[in-house]
Amino acid sequence: MKDTELPVLKLRKGKEDSLDRFHPWVFSGALMHMPQPGEDEIEEGDLVTISTHDGRIVGTGHFQIGSIAVRMLTFSPDEAVDEDFYGRRLEQAWELRKALNLKREDNTAFRLVHGEGDFLPGLVVDVYGPTAVMQAHSPGMHFARDIIARRLVALKDAGIENVYYKSETTLPYKAQLDPHNDYILGHFAGDTAMENGFTFHVDWLRGQKTGFFVDQRDNRSLLRQYSNGRKVLNMFCYTGGFSLAALAGGAKEVVSVDSSAKAISLTDANVALNFNDGRHRSSAEDAFKFLDNMGKDEYNLIVLDPPAFAKHRSALRNALQGYRRLNAKAFEKIAPGGILFTFSCSQAVNKEQFRLAVFSAAASTGRRVRILHQMTQPADHPVNIYHPEGEYLKGLVLYVE
Ligand code: SAH
Repeated sequence: MKDTELPVLKLRKGKEDSLDRFHPWVFSGALMHMPQPGEDEIEEGDLVTISTHDGRIVGTGHFQIGSIAVRMLTFSPDEAVDEDFYGRRLEQAWELRKALNLKREDNTAFRLVHGEGDFLPGLVVDVYGPTAVMQAHSPGMHFARDIIARRLVALKDAGIENVYYKSETTLPYKAQLDPHNDYILGHFAGDTAMENGFTFHVDWLRGQKTGFFVDQRDNRSLLRQYSNGRKVLNMFCYTGGFSLAALAGGAKEVVSVDSSAKAISLTDANVALNFNDGRHRSSAEDAFKFLDNMGKDEYNLIVLDPPAFAKHRSALRNALQGYRRLNAKAFEKIAPGGILFTFSCSQAVNKEQFRLAVFSAAASTGRRVRILHQMTQPADHPVNIYHPEGEYLKGLVLYVE
């Protein structure tokens, strides 16, 4: 039964169109009145009912202060958002991962919940063996964290025993929720996980995001196929995922670079867990400086996987320039017959813009370049077709003559 007590927020006339196409965001400007906590009887994170200006119920979502005022959880006027709601959504998310066969003896790391892609906007859950690392990006999900944790460990055959909550840096600072990173359920139970046969340390306590970038799994497998006999440079290596793939693929030599000394020690540790044959070196250095200082033709396989250059649309211009500069340096230095794996994980940069930035970088060096593969995020990061913004990872594999 639907909870009839929820506050109703009305849309301005004509603002229901995107919601009628199931886009899950309500912008503050679409509301007849943007509630002000303190003045109106509504707090950040509260559940609200959305209706059209003339009273038709559109669905239910989480309210928050900001340009995205409501993140829609359901478009069914009769569906209550209660503990069973979260339970059902998590079961559906787990059903999909089972279909993808991502939980295996040789693969224990995968994304279980990918926000809008799993119809749970504001929530991310990555699984590392018996531990789920959960991140709330909205106050509403923060308040639902205990329910979600309970339902995660209840998922049949998912094998989740511990839930670590890690939202200190993902929740809006102004909401003053003061979240603490800690176990909600269970306890520390080892910090290694497997990706396609390789063991990784996953540092969810101190690492970036949930501790590991599960979204590059398929692209690492592709790199492995190209690595035999090559001299590989893995820029922005973080925990060394691409370095391991290159070593596994028979690379002659692999050099990993990251500006963070912590990342370099994680990469070194992960290489040591899986290989011990002297083919790997690492360097804690700025990527741009490293590319400037290295010799021409030294490497014939280069990976560029930088952090998001544009966190917001306002930074788009600078971000595109950043991608252009970075890729131009790689095009200048890569050996003839070289292969470049180049990525952008900025949500604000779309596929076409990224391709244009790489294209103009290539043109500036005058080299002959062909596209071999166009890559995106793996299937455990599904894109809700009504929320195309969810497609954030873009990559190209290029053959450079
Ligand atoms: N390729 C990694 C993920 C990269 S995340 C993987 O497969 O897991 C981005 C990394 O870039 C972070 O580890 C960050 O420390 C590093 N970084 C950020 N700015 C940098 C810079 N200017 N030079 C080198 N590394 C940088």
